[in-house]
Amino acid sequence: MKYVRFLENGKIGYGILRDKEISILSGNFLDHAEETGEKTELGKVKLLSPVSPSKALCIGLNYTAHIGELDMARPEKPVVFMKPSTSLLNPEEHIVRPRQSKRVDYEAELCVVIARKAKDVRKEDALSYVFGYTVANDVTARDLQEKGGQWTICKGFDTFMPIGPYISDEVDPSHLEIESRLNGKVMQHSNTENLIFKVDFLISYLSSVMTLEKGDVILTGTPKGVSGMDAGDIIECEIEGLGILRNTVS
Ligand code: MG
Repeated sequence: MKYVRFLENGKIGYGILRDKEISILSGNFLDHAEETGEKTELGKVKLLSPVSPSKALCIGLNYTAHIGELDMARPEKPVVFMKPSTSLLNPEEHIVRPRQSKRVDYEAELCVVIARKAKDVRKEDALSYVFGYTVANDVTARDLQEKGGQWTICKGFDTFMPIGPYISDEVDPSHLEIESRLNGKVMQHSNTENLIFKVDFLISYLSSVMTLEKGDVILTGTPKGVSGMDAGDIIECEIEGLGILRNTVS
């Protein structure tokens, strides 16, 4: 199913998206809310990012071709950094370029949404802790990224984590086409089969360190083809079966 969080008449709602119709739920789908029988339409609501995570764990350098374009070394263990909850951005909203940076990049990424508390999860059990998948843009102030140093500053600005438009529990994360388009031009194109560290391993690895909570997200890394965005640009990140995450740049 496809799950959405939305704003209608000033109130946050949760629903299941079927074509252009939303079947309204009694509460958050992460809490196993049930369908109320009420309906609304996609065109009548403002879609919000489908999750509001307590933490966003992000994997760097997880596609070989992207490591090459950044002139970095292939990691032996996952490169992990975090984005603050304040960087979350809804679909269709503005990515704000900060005054400290002259080069702000898009990074299309498969985003894993955790279903329930996960600690010391074995790799073979890991996918049972996944609620579903969505699209994220790991926006990065490339000129503030330090090679071998911390990445929290360059990736932690407000508006630097668009997520959406919906969560699907119907896709196989091991083989999904992934693409980004800047003003309609294809910039990144790959497939999640090219991930160096796969979703099940990442959940096991991360949960061996910290408890993953319901609604936490893992951004799994971006393929090659990153470049900067300017004011007025439109960036679209699309993953097979997960729709298009579109944002404007200001
Ligand atoms: Mg990234």
